[in-house]
Formats: sequence, C-alpha cells, structure tokens
Amino acid sequence: MSSKHKQSNKRSVYDAEPIPQSARGVIDGLLESGDLFRYTAAKDNPSQVTLLEKEFAAYMGSKYALAVNSASSAIYLSLLTVGIGTGDQVLIPAWTFAAVPSAVVNAGALPILVEVGDDLRIDMADFEAKLNGNIKAVVISHMRGHTSDMDMIKALCDAQDVPLIEDAAHSLGTLWNNRKIGTIGAVGCFSFQSYKMVNGGEGGILLTDDADIIAKAVFMSGAYEHNWAKHCHPEVPFEKYQNLLPLFNLRMNNLSAAVIRPQIELIDTRVAKGLENYEYVAEKLNASPLISVPPADARERRAPDSLQFNLVGFDDAQTRRVMEISTARGNPISIFGMQGDNARVFWNWKFIGNVPELPITRAMLKRACDIRLPVGMSRNELDETVAFILDCVTEARMLIAS
Ligand SMILES: *Cc1c(COP(=O)(O)O)cnc(C)c1O
Repeated sequence: MSSKHKQSNKRSVYDAEPIPQSARGVIDGLLESGDLFRYTAAKDNPSQVTLLEKEFAAYMGSKYALAVNSASSAIYLSLLTVGIGTGDQVLIPAWTFAAVPSAVVNAGALPILVEVGDDLRIDMADFEAKLNGNIKAVVISHMRGHTSDMDMIKALCDAQDVPLIEDAAHSLGTLWNNRKIGTIGAVGCFSFQSYKMVNGGEGGILLTDDADIIAKAVFMSGAYEHNWAKHCHPEVPFEKYQNLLPLFNLRMNNLSAAVIRPQIELIDTRVAKGLENYEYVAEKLNASPLISVPPADARERRAPDSLQFNLVGFDDAQTRRVMEISTARGNPISIFGMQGDNARVFWNWKFIGNVPELPITRAMLKRACDIRLPVGMSRNELDETVAFILDCVTEARMLIAS
C-alpha cells in the first residue's frame, strides 16, 4: 500500500479488507497475557483459535472446522486424511494456484491435470475421461470464485467412491444451488491470506462433517499428546489415532484468530457488495466487442473480489500490449498465460515433473485477464476502473493495427 494512496484516502486495487475495530480489545488482551498459542488455554476457557473454529463451522453449517496456517496446509492435510500417499494419482484443475499441485506433490502423490475452458470452468468431458480407476482423490479449485459443475463432479466422484476435496480458498461466500461452496465435498478448504474475502494476514481453515477426517486432521496439524481434547468434540474418535499419525505443526495462532473472528459477521455484506460491484463492471465491459466476461451459471451465486475477462480477437502482441499499457499507467491488468512466472499457469509448475500439454487451458490462459476488485470500491472508483480497462484494451488493439 503506497503512502500516496493513504493520503488520498481512496480504495486502491491493492487494498486488503480492513480489520474491524472490535478486534482491538481481544488483541490487546493477547499482547498483555502473551497467550498466543492455541493449546495453552484450559479446556473450559476456549482459545481464540477454538472460538474461530466453532463460529466458522456454525456460519458455514458444517460439523467440524480446523484452523491452520494457510489454505495450502488445509489442502495438504485434506489429502492425507482421505488416505492419499506415495504414488497416488490426484485429479486437479489445470487452472489453479500452484498451492494445489504443490499440496499433491507434498503428499507424495502425482497431480493429473484436467482442462479448464474459456468459461473458466472445468471441462467436464475431460474430467469424465480422466476420472478413471487410477484416480484416488479429486481436488476442485473454485478458482477466483468461478464454480465448475459441482452436481456432475459430485455425482461422478460418488459413483466411483473417490473422495472430493474442495479448494474454496478464494470462494468464501459462493453458493451452488443455494449450498455453501466448500461444504459439498468430503473436505472444504478456505484461505484467510490478505487478498481473500477475510483478511487474516495468513491463515486457512478446513471444514468437514466426517469425524474420522477431523480427528486425523487435528492430530496432523500439530495437536500433540492429548491437545485434541481442547477441540471439544466428545463424539470424535481421537483415541483411535493417538500416536499413529505424524505431527506437521501447521497450527494457527491466537492473534490470527482474533483478527479473523470479527470478520465472519461481515462476510455476507462483503459478498453482496462484491457481487454488486462485479455485475456493474461486468455489464459495462461486456458492452465492448473487445471483451467477454464469462457468464454466470444459473446455479451459482458468486462472491467475487476480483474480475476475470477474456480478450476477444486479440493476437499475442496486442494481448501483451494490454499488460504493458496498464502496467505503465499504474494498475497492471495481468494476463495469466502472458506473464512470465505466473503461479496460476500450469506450464510453470515444473516441480510436478512432466507437464502435460493442455491446449484448451493454454488458449484460455493466453487471453484471460485478471484484475482485483476490492469489495470496498465506490461507484466512482468502479467507473474509473471500467474506463481504465476500456482505454487500455482499445489502445492496445489500435497501436498494433496502425
Ligand atoms: C489463495 C489460494 C490458495 C492458497 O491459499 P493460502 O492460504 O495462501 O495457502 C489456494 N487455492 C486458491 C484457489 C487460492 O486462491
């Protein structure tokens, strides 16, 4: 955040969600007591992290939540809890954040990439073809809040008894058929990293209704000895797993939880505002023949804090110009597949070994633009953003043509 921005008191596209004032009392108390470790508190005096788990699970309508240090950790733990190990094949979308193939690799498993189309959803024909008998788990990323056909994905996974993990890191508040995204699969994972809907600096949480999954996740997140007792789930079979699981220490600390807790009640308002902003900007951009914003699916209610749109009829040079012009003017429009080392681009995931060729996803990534749309933006700022995008795009197209 620049000091210039601070002086102008204006929302910048780089801004994260503000932390409510009400967090301060609790934070001051933690600073005074030094009580930052989640398992110091007595059983009858739940820590901030335990309270966050309880409140988040209640808000989402799930039985169990486990707060950890990132969504990446949550995804990694999810894979382990559903039994993924060395050499197993895990189906993931070819358009996701590098955290997802990384979690698979971290679990000793092999990511199998599924095509994602220019509607930013998983290509269901490719999904069906690749969900063969070798796949041991599926991770679906609701990337930037774009929801794939969860009805079909769930049905196909259930039919083959393949566990479904939802990476809803950047999709908190999205609904699919009125059901909260992240509660459809066996486990759902969310991020509280600063540039998500709830800003905890860093942090993540996993949700499940499965008592065995939560038991295993709690141990492996670092509940050594009998610290599981502080999760207050008498029906969960923790004893069954005592001393049988490795402890990875991926815990959240109380300060993060204190920053996150007062934001839970703000999620609905943020989602409504984000959607209103998104629809306002999307409609104006769609009026340009040079831009296409992927249409919503009738079954989803999105929770956007960023905007993705496709450039229509641009060649590579013109597409690069969009990035150059917008960057020169101080508000870079990033184009996933045109930006050297973008972490959301599958051909940059060299750590997975043999990166397959995926022509559908590649074509999408070469024209899909990405811009933040923080939910606190005013109408005026949205109008400026629209004008900015249209200017950059129009100019990029003309400069080359002349
Ligand atoms: C942000 C994000 C992650 C990683 O979240 P962290 O909390 O930073 O680990 C994973 N997947 C998606 C889709 C994301 O947007």
